[in-house]
Amino acid sequence: MEEKILIIGANIPGLSAGCYGQMNGFDTEIFETSYSPGGDCTGLFKKDYYFDTCMHWVSGTRHGNGYFNSMWRELGALDRVPVLTQDLFMDVRTPAYPHFLVYTDADKWGDYLLSLAPEDAEKIRELVEDIKSLSAMQVPDKAVELMGIRDRSALSREFESYKIIFLKYVRKTVQDVASGFRNAQIREGLVHGFSGEDLPALSMVLLLGQFHGKNAGWMKGGSLLFAKRIADRYTGLGGNLRYGKRVKEIVVEKNTAVGVKLDNENYYPADIIISAIDGKHTIQDLIHGKYAARELKMINNLNASKLYTPAIQVSFGVNKNFSQEPHFTRFTLASAVTFGDVEVKNLAVKHFCFDDSTAPAGKSSVSVLFDITPEYFTSLYRNRDQYNREKERITGDVLAYMNFFKPGFSRAVEATDFSTVWNVLHHTGNWRAGYEGLFPLTRNSRFMSLSKTVPGLKNFFMIGQWLSPGAGLPALARHGRDVMQMICAAEKKVFTARIPEESPEN
Ligand SMILES: Cc1cc2nc3c(=O)[nH]c(=O)nc-3n(C[C@H](O)[C@H](O)[C@H](O)COP(=O)(O)OP(=O)(O)OC[C@H]3O[C@@H](n4cnc5c(N)ncnc54)[C@H](O)[C@@H]3O)c2cc1C
Repeated sequence: MEEKILIIGANIPGLSAGCYGQMNGFDTEIFETSYSPGGDCTGLFKKDYYFDTCMHWVSGTRHGNGYFNSMWRELGALDRVPVLTQDLFMDVRTPAYPHFLVYTDADKWGDYLLSLAPEDAEKIRELVEDIKSLSAMQVPDKAVELMGIRDRSALSREFESYKIIFLKYVRKTVQDVASGFRNAQIREGLVHGFSGEDLPALSMVLLLGQFHGKNAGWMKGGSLLFAKRIADRYTGLGGNLRYGKRVKEIVVEKNTAVGVKLDNENYYPADIIISAIDGKHTIQDLIHGKYAARELKMINNLNASKLYTPAIQVSFGVNKNFSQEPHFTRFTLASAVTFGDVEVKNLAVKHFCFDDSTAPAGKSSVSVLFDITPEYFTSLYRNRDQYNREKERITGDVLAYMNFFKPGFSRAVEATDFSTVWNVLHHTGNWRAGYEGLFPLTRNSRFMSLSKTVPGLKNFFMIGQWLSPGAGLPALARHGRDVMQMICAAEKKVFTARIPEESPEN
């Protein structure tokens, strides 16, 4: 009889594990609290507008370009969907410089940077060449947990040409890289554009490499349809997707996970259990802190700065056409503005006019995103009435700001959505409303993440944002593929993955 695998969470890593489980002959079932797939990877329709609350770009969108593209095609994510790419990635506006542009093509960006700062010609060329080199980098097919000495030395040979670039950036922040430029506009643009005080410089060059290689794009229709396509692939492969089912406990006997208990006390036995949900919730609540005690202690001792901060997104459907404007603008303000009780100094404004399915012709779907502290999030969450009042205040203040930025903006607003604070906690159950897990740290700190197996607990695996700090959707979907490779290896089965036949070329 096929082995039974229960997966907790129909987010992207959970759905991916389910798809690969089905492809490899397991009998899988996914339990998901909410009534739609994707977790954070979602969006919503209001009136004639679509508001995306997740992806802005996803790596692996270029057809035939290695591991991630194959993975998305195996998962049906690229099925019958155009990929839209951008020439301009971002416009960075700071008090001192009204514009600092970041182009997706590294050569074009290099020419732009040279026009700003001939004095930095050498540094600019170096950065551009590093981005271009990394654009060709591929990742191995095999899960790192399964790699033996031979695989590792083959990998190390393959990565030889990237080693110097990796070593150059791996322990640095964007701020460190920026400080190497003489030109103040470049320094400021990099730091504010890429949240440079903390962000590892390697994340920046890898991302720009993906853009340069035309391998990072937006799949038409955004996050909601992206998640639905993967969910359809899962059910099309025979998977059993159970919505409205909240797992409250992983049942353990003799140090082996043997099933799950739902909120309604129903018990479901299984041979293997995979949790794709919040790492702290899994360890603390689902296995009652009985295993991974060291990891739980580490999480409980974490300083908030080592977690991604939660964010608020206010979205507007606007009867104005912003298609001639940069689709992604990052603002750093001279002095903080207050939105409700939140002091905001940095905010991101996006419009989605490049995708005609997000708004009627001549109109725009616009989102304003800014960080909040986990404490503010928690205080709001305690009281629903207070939350609703604060939501109104914040939305009003954001509108006032948008009027200043775009005169007449509020008069043209036809639909509004306020998301993330309440929604993230209720929708995903994530600790402190996080959406990218632990922060990828650089120098002076250990790189912390959880691993896919929990010491001492058999037949149990963990995947999701807590295992890849700062990761986006490709790394998370990869967890599902990796974990199924690990399960197949333990069962002495050959792992197989296949692309559905109807998948067209992009
Ligand atoms: C604003 C924003 C922008 C982003 N931009 C990008 C981007 O540009 N590119 C990119 O690649 N990625 C992007 N991401 C994605 C992000 O980086 C993460 O990949 C993603 O949000 C992490 O989610 P996850 O899959 O680990 O889990 P989550 O999305 O948190 O999903 C957890 C799931 O588990 C379910 N669940 C929780 N508890 C239980 C339980 N007890 N029983 C059953 N089910 C349960 C929840 O309902 C939910 O469906 C963005 C995310 C956000 C929020």
